[in-house]
Amino acid sequence: MRASLFFKFTLAFILVVLAGISLMAFLANRSATGGLSLYVDRGSELWAHRLAPVLVAYYSRQQSWAGIDQFLTQGPRVDVRRRVGQGPRRRTLDGPSDKRLWWLADHRLILGDSQNRVVFDSDSQMTGQDLGNDMRVSMVPLLLDDQRIGSLLIAQFDEGLLEQQFLDRVNQGLALAALGTIVIALVAAVLLSRQLTSPIRRLTAAAQGIAAGRLDQRVSVSSRDEVGQLADSFNEMAGKLQLGETQRRRMLADIAHELRNPLSAIQGNLEGMLDGVLPLKPAQVATAYDQTLILSRLVEDLRLLSLAEARQLHLEKSETDVGLLVQSVVDNFRPLAQERGVDLRTQVPAVPTMAAVDPQRISQVVANLLSNALRYVAGGDSVTVAVRRTDTGSEVSVSDSGPGIDEDELPHVFERFYRVEKSRSRSAGGSGLGLAIAKELVEIHGGRIWVESQAGKGSKFTFAIPS
Ligand code: ADP
Repeated sequence: MRASLFFKFTLAFILVVLAGISLMAFLANRSATGGLSLYVDRGSELWAHRLAPVLVAYYSRQQSWAGIDQFLTQGPRVDVRRRVGQGPRRRTLDGPSDKRLWWLADHRLILGDSQNRVVFDSDSQMTGQDLGNDMRVSMVPLLLDDQRIGSLLIAQFDEGLLEQQFLDRVNQGLALAALGTIVIALVAAVLLSRQLTSPIRRLTAAAQGIAAGRLDQRVSVSSRDEVGQLADSFNEMAGKLQLGETQRRRMLADIAHELRNPLSAIQGNLEGMLDGVLPLKPAQVATAYDQTLILSRLVEDLRLLSLAEARQLHLEKSETDVGLLVQSVVDNFRPLAQERGVDLRTQVPAVPTMAAVDPQRISQVVANLLSNALRYVAGGDSVTVAVRRTDTGSEVSVSDSGPGIDEDELPHVFERFYRVEKSRSRSAGGSGLGLAIAKELVEIHGGRIWVESQAGKGSKFTFAIPS
């Protein structure tokens, strides 16, 4: 994988470098060709302009072009230092040791007279011939007292060769640049692929660990880029898997634990009767029967909870007056409240509070909250069930003046099998699933449930459902 990423990066970088350099070479070649010939032409023209006064002065002295070839080959005094270059490459036309004009080596000088006849050609080919029309237009006129006494042309020999040499240099430079950039691209590819693959390799190892059941695998990646985000998501996923696994194990242990109590009670009862230790009487059988009721309620609660958690509980929703629904649940609990000496009150708005709910499921939520409240309050306490309209739907609360719940227990009361006072609530018949079921049922209705409570000051469980 590492090699493959490295290979891909390297290939991509080299392709980019080659494409860039080729484009540069193409553009440089194109603009250099035109630019160079312009530069050469301008240079030659400049030479001609510098030499023109010298030639005019010669003509003025001689009143003819006679002997000009000797004059030119011996070298007129023309100082072009300021024009033709600075520094070490500076050259002058009047070097005493060089009799010939040095520039005649790579320049051609053609001088025509007033009749356009060539009087001097440094290349000797055209001496004595007529200047062609093409040539005439590019010549510098030589004027003496406004009289045209001749014309001068200086041209670069082998302009094409010069251009080629220049372009060769440019291309050479570009080839070197390409080579250098490819080396840099290779180094960059190595660094980048290493930087990218090392967290990916760690992620792969961690994922393999998870696949092998080691759910505590986490990856630490400091970068905040996409790989960093991937590592964060991976860690989050691993955390959730681990939590889910812990919850699954805890739930299994809890279920086994919850089943064991009624089962051993039944077993003890039956064994006692079989051994003749306990009388085989209906009252004794009834005790065993009561335990089977607890067992079947527990199994039913578990079934309901797992269906709700898997979002597989089918809801039969209908437009329901929540106030009326709550009132009927409360009415069912009145005998129990009376029996326990608890003051059970309702606060329901006079106008209907309509919501699209499954009445059976919402009744069950209210029943769970109410049975808890009645279970935990003492005689003389009060329990109030209130229904309220809100902007988004309706709210139902069950408040009691019972023992309340400690602050550190509050976040856990909706967890499966969580009991604040374990022995007390179990002996009171609680499965430890009532609030977990209520929460799931409210949530599958798109609502939420919460509790406010203070130890010693009672509890208030509220759920809100959208209309
Ligand atoms: P249980 O079947 O044990 O009542 P629940 O899920 O209904 O299980 O409740 C979880 C725990 O929350 C209970 O064991 C109890 O300790 C606490 N609890 C629930 N309702 C009340 C209440 N009204 N007052 C005080 N404690 C409560």
